[in-house]
Amino acid sequence: MPPAISVESCSRCDHPSVVHQEYSGQHLCGKHLASSIRKRTSKELRQQLKLPKDARHEDGSPYRILVAVSGGKDSAVLLTMLHDIIARRRDVELIAGCVDEGIDGYRAPSLECARDLAEQLGVRFETLSYEGIGYERMDEVVSRIPAMGKNHDEAKGMMPCSFCGVFRRQSLNSLAEKVSADVMALGHNLDDMAQSILMNFQKGEIERSVRLAPHTENPIDGIVPRIVPLRWIPEQEIHAHAICQGLPIHHGDCPHAPGAMRQQSRGIVAQMESLTPGARHGLLHSLDEIRRLHRETERDPKLEVRNCSECGEITSKEVCQACTMKRWLAETA
Ligand code: SF4
Ligand SMILES: [Zn+2]
Ligand SMILES: [Zn+2]
Repeated sequence: MPPAISVESCSRCDHPSVVHQEYSGQHLCGKHLASSIRKRTSKELRQQLKLPKDARHEDGSPYRILVAVSGGKDSAVLLTMLHDIIARRRDVELIAGCVDEGIDGYRAPSLECARDLAEQLGVRFETLSYEGIGYERMDEVVSRIPAMGKNHDEAKGMMPCSFCGVFRRQSLNSLAEKVSADVMALGHNLDDMAQSILMNFQKGEIERSVRLAPHTENPIDGIVPRIVPLRWIPEQEIHAHAICQGLPIHHGDCPHAPGAMRQQSRGIVAQMESLTPGARHGLLHSLDEIRRLHRETERDPKLEVRNCSECGEITSKEVCQACTMKRWLAETA
């Protein structure tokens, strides 16, 4: 006889559990996981997005939330949660926006998953490609990285994600502008947040951590504020929830991801969490505390703001990173 596989039951009912929250000691079934995620998301949303009773603009148009979707589990859960929590409000409109990076075999199927979900929910769906705003497809960018490295010391050893991150940020800003979004919601989960915090600390970039979303208390001039309602939910719980709900999600990985610093950070965060359950929450709590202290001590942040001499975007340099990369690409055309 094969050994019986024992599945722990849910800590709140008799059903079999689908996740074990090591950090809280709880086991949760699909239904209780869903209600727990919804509760944490609503709470975080209330803190990050303080909407008046009637959020419409003076001209009567609704308050617009652009939800950045990718076809992956995080943004699928984000979109369904926001839809569940907010869609009944007639003064608020949700718009799903997907950036097409131009990555063969990866983006097309995931974009279709994102479109499917938006259609199922009756949410308007918009896309924008890198080529659409003057960059190149990511596959093409990757093939030119060695040549760009030869031309510029600064570009030497740069990984695909360093380019992609800058281009995606610009694309999302353009999408936000295109749909007149008031705020942008991103699907970052607790693991993503912990990894970003760790990577910034490793590089000594506290300022960068302070500027991480949510931007509720720290708005950045010139860009649509970002909110991250899933930031306290671990990746594994989001994944389990997406599967339990049968959401259309793409499981493939981007072919350009290997070697990125985030991959390294992902392993470290997972290891920290398994040795000390609650470590991810601890990292995020630490960041919130640093941000609070930073807000209290900040003199006049506006003094340091500069505009890119080419595109006008906010930057710390003469020419912003996006325009610099655009120039590198043009030189290797
Ligand atoms: S893994 Fe890197 S290259 Fe691939 S989509 Fe993400 S940021 Fe872009
Ligand atoms: Zn249960
Ligand atoms: Zn620029």
